[in-house]
Amino acid sequence: MAIKLAHNCINCEQLQDGNFCKKHKVTVGEQYTCDSFNMKAAILDERNCLTCARYEETSCANPEKAAPAMLCASWAPQAQA
Ligand code: SF4
Ligand code: SF4
Repeated sequence: MAIKLAHNCINCEQLQDGNFCKKHKVTVGEQYTCDSFNMKAAILDERNCLTCARYEETSCANPEKAAPAMLCASWAPQAQA
């Protein structure tokens, strides 16, 4: 099972400074989401083989194709510093 980015307010493009949702005009947090969720483009852009915990590891789903501009459904987040 692939681990994916959370579809919650923290990753939504509607979120503004102060955890304020500009669509619903309310304060939200990471525990919330709604049907209008839309992933921030910047976060989507960060997902590729170079940011995948499986890159050049035996757990990579596509070792023959893995490359910096590549992305597959088995992408997994790297450990946070
Ligand atoms: S309430 Fe919906 S639209 Fe607003 S930030 Fe959260 S997911 Fe995005
Ligand atoms: S091919 Fe898939 S599993 Fe392999 S490094 Fe790229 S995103 Fe990760």
